[in-house]
Amino acid sequence: MEEMMALRCKYCGAPLDGDAVKSDSPYVTCSSCGTTQQRIDAQAYLNQLMGQVRSWVNQAMPGGFSMAQSQNVDSVARHNIFMTSFKPRIDMEYTTYKFGMNNLLSQVMMVMPFSVNTGLKANHTSTQAFEFGAKMNEISPLAVSDDTTRIMDEVSKTTDAYALLINNCELVREDKPGRYVLMANNFGIAATDFSKVPGYEPAQLRMEGLAELCNGCELLLNGDIASAFGKFNAGKAKLQEASSKTAGNFKVAIMGQAVLQEIKQANALIELSEYVNSMGSSKEVFDAVRRIFTFTYPATGNWAFLLGNQDRLAEIFSNMSECVRSRTGKGNIKIAAGSGNILVPFWHINLKYSFQTGSLWKKRSVEVDEVLLVSADFVIDSSCLSNPRQAVTDVFSIKGSNGLFAGLTGSETSISNSQGLGGLVESAAENSAGGRNIIIPLSTRKEAERIAENYVDAVSRVEDKLRLSNPDVAELIFIPFERDGNKLRAPPAFGNLVPGRIRNTNLDQLIIL
Ligand SMILES: [Zn+2]
Repeated sequence: MEEMMALRCKYCGAPLDGDAVKSDSPYVTCSSCGTTQQRIDAQAYLNQLMGQVRSWVNQAMPGGFSMAQSQNVDSVARHNIFMTSFKPRIDMEYTTYKFGMNNLLSQVMMVMPFSVNTGLKANHTSTQAFEFGAKMNEISPLAVSDDTTRIMDEVSKTTDAYALLINNCELVREDKPGRYVLMANNFGIAATDFSKVPGYEPAQLRMEGLAELCNGCELLLNGDIASAFGKFNAGKAKLQEASSKTAGNFKVAIMGQAVLQEIKQANALIELSEYVNSMGSSKEVFDAVRRIFTFTYPATGNWAFLLGNQDRLAEIFSNMSECVRSRTGKGNIKIAAGSGNILVPFWHINLKYSFQTGSLWKKRSVEVDEVLLVSADFVIDSSCLSNPRQAVTDVFSIKGSNGLFAGLTGSETSISNSQGLGGLVESAAENSAGGRNIIIPLSTRKEAERIAENYVDAVSRVEDKLRLSNPDVAELIFIPFERDGNKLRAPPAFGNLVPGRIRNTNLDQLIIL
């Protein structure tokens, strides 16, 4: 009953903190949704809420009884009132709240810095869920047996946790300062709620883990990288424990996949803090990080899912860290020979194919090893995603006047070698960037493999004499280009194989160290 005296936030229905309530200020700020309101409005909302709660109780209460007198009624009678008048209603309402909570638990609840998550949806408003909790509080004197106390505990704790998590659904929709403090607060109280409900230990661990990640993000944004790093690791450990305990626990099994995704987010945050740390947390670094998080990738066909997945960020930050280390002389990246002043990232891909040559009675099959280079920032270019030939050194585009591939009609050497690309790729060796700028690779190895496969498919459709094998991603290499305003000039070794992507490049859109 005491809790009911706390003022309630008129925006989300959460009980307001004791400190806020006791202060003399005419304004109070909700520590769950973050909204500041006038004290008299919070008081008015509390009065309205209690009116609704009492009318709900009075409707269910058998004639002649009132909650105010319930202390004077013997415990058997109280138990009977609870079981016959309230339990059926509670069961019915709680079923929909529990369904809503499970739905929420099945989704990824973390949001990365600088980004928003508009996909996280709840079936109820937090006001509804907090109001249901207030009803449970009001009738708690009727729960007198161990059984009914346990039911009431579970109902009120899970609904309270649900209401707090609904508030987080709102907080992840907008990149507002201070949101991680509120989210950590909500996750933390939800963890305490879940700790009191048997079978919900994995949910408790998950909430504790998410609270750590949120606290880490707040520290990171404030420039305290060392402390952030510790929080991210602690959060990841909690999430891993939650994940291992989720398997085989039917109450929370629904959250299994979401927790795995959140572990990947934790990895990305760990990579991110390592990256920021390796560079020193300057404004330049935060700008680069912000751009990585806020890139709007083209939503082209089945690429939309792959590029919208935040687990790719861990690999991008890891590659970015390598670039930073190379730039600052603390590490090496694979750099090809050449005199250009800006290092452009490419995925080196090995491609084998065979084709028939010779006249009718001297036909033979020729096997060729080809080097393919994929522009490592192809993911931000929709023309590459819809036409993979734009993203690569398109060796099969080079044809002689007779329609056969140039270079394949005579001594059957590979096309890339005849253009000089083979030698360029072979020259790549571990090196520091020296004074040269580096363009940050924006694609992952998996994405490079995907675009190379799409390329092979596209070629196979039009060149029926070729038998192409699966492309094999070897490594990421950096090739020196010349910078020309916001354009790139390719080294001569590319010959006629400069990818369409390079011609489309606008350096202003890329992250350059
Ligand atoms: Zn609120």
